Amino acid sequence: MFPSVDDSELLEPFGLSGFRGFQRAIIDRTLSGKHILVIMPTGGGKSLCYQVPSMYWFQQSHGGESDRSGSRPLTIVLSPLIALMKDQVDSLNARGIPATFINSSLDRAQRLARYEAIKRGDFAMLYVTPERFRKPDFVECLGARTIKLLAVDEAHCISQWGHDFRPDYTRVADFRSMLGNPTTIALTATATPEVQKDIAIQLGLNGIGSNDDQCEMFHEGIDRPNLELIVSEVWGVDEKIECIKRSLTKWIPTSIPTESRPSLKTSQDALEPDEAVQGSAIVYFTLIRTLETFSEILRKEGIGHVVYHGDLSRHYRKQIQDDFMSGRSPLVLATNAFGMGVDKSNIRLVIHADIPNSLESYYQEIGRAGRDGMPSECRLLYDADDLATQMEFIRWSNPDADFYQRVHHYLTHDLDRLRAFGMDWLRLQLCGKNKHDRRLETALGILERYGVIDQSEDLSIVEVLEDSLPTLLSDSTHLAAKLLNDQKKLYALVQYVQCDQDRQVFLRQYFGAD
Ligand code: ADP
Ligand code: MG
Repeated sequence: MFPSVDDSELLEPFGLSGFRGFQRAIIDRTLSGKHILVIMPTGGGKSLCYQVPSMYWFQQSHGGESDRSGSRPLTIVLSPLIALMKDQVDSLNARGIPATFINSSLDRAQRLARYEAIKRGDFAMLYVTPERFRKPDFVECLGARTIKLLAVDEAHCISQWGHDFRPDYTRVADFRSMLGNPTTIALTATATPEVQKDIAIQLGLNGIGSNDDQCEMFHEGIDRPNLELIVSEVWGVDEKIECIKRSLTKWIPTSIPTESRPSLKTSQDALEPDEAVQGSAIVYFTLIRTLETFSEILRKEGIGHVVYHGDLSRHYRKQIQDDFMSGRSPLVLATNAFGMGVDKSNIRLVIHADIPNSLESYYQEIGRAGRDGMPSECRLLYDADDLATQMEFIRWSNPDADFYQRVHHYLTHDLDRLRAFGMDWLRLQLCGKNKHDRRLETALGILERYGVIDQSEDLSIVEVLEDSLPTLLSDSTHLAAKLLNDQKKLYALVQYVQCDQDRQVFLRQYFGAD
């Protein structure tokens, strides 16, 4: 489609020597103005798929007929996380590529200055979260520009059936139409066939297909051939500890005192010492209290490690993450709070000490292993009793319409008492004395995602921004469907545990890559 442009011209601003996989084909389709859904594993190079066309158009417009600010093409990149967009923009800027972001980290003066620069046509790419479209001054600023491309990163967030749904992503079709329905590229590492279809619909496109009003899909597959996928059926804490020690002995023997090392079945299981000390390992847990129990046991056995979970202070978490990334602490016990920004090449071992809640989360978490392409182990410890914990978790993460109604009522009618007596008081009103009941935390988190409330970081102060509940949160049929969907996801994981075929094949089928 664009045979006249060769790879080197497109890649020049990025300092890379060639394209990988489907990148060139995706870029050709984008340059020809057609919509695309890209499914490519994490680290596969999705960003380049929109950055290259964006930069190509931007450069083409310079010096030519269209070198007036209004017609200089701009790409809008929707990205769910502020931290991710800053990293991306920093590395683009380091190469002299004109990209920027607008988010809440900017103060008013910086924001206004950036709006002016956008209107002038200074940038090829603008990164924002979908929430930004709530601001009229932002929408007004874009009115001055030709939006040639809309890139929707982490596009699984669009689907209510995806694992990381974000309400503002449901409005992407509206944003597209505000922007004049530009060519759209949606990108994600994981989407089941159901989520793939939903993404196309939520973008306002006519499903998956190759017509102009449809979204063509480029699925790079999800295979990670260097990851050995293992499930160990275990019974109780002691067996789990044994499994963890055995895997550690193989991959990072230095973490474990000689007297604590279990003997490995075969000599092939042991690695050369040089090879072994280079690597790191993550052991994931569902609950902080289980993590702490394991940490205590390992500590008594002299097995050095650090811990990471959401109850630790931000400062301490950052320090732990830095120690892990630098290799100073090669073993971390963590909850799923550990992950973002963990892009380390030599993670040799990822153990799940309990069953996670879905194959989507599982695949994402094991995806951190073996980024360097070297053999790595992903071991899931399956104790049937852990299913009950996950089932309970699913219940706590799916409050019903009545619960939302009651929370909202307290927030709008009893905010003074809430501020005076705190969250524990509210929890008592809503959930009674069951301290494991997490429905209040879930409901507040979701109300925040929907922009109904604003919480401070320690969750103490709540600001109510909307005096009515969004329709989806008062719709019992919808909430029941969501609960069922979460249960089905857990069930898929149980099937993964029990499958007697190649587990890579199972994952491929689940994610519609076959
Ligand atoms: P994803 O979004 O798919 O997880 P990224 O776009 O962040 O992946 O890219 C991951 C890494 O791969 C980045 O460091 C990027 O520079 C690099 N990369 C992407 N495409 C290429 C390429 N064609 N050649 C070399 N490196 C590439
Ligand atoms: Mg990415």
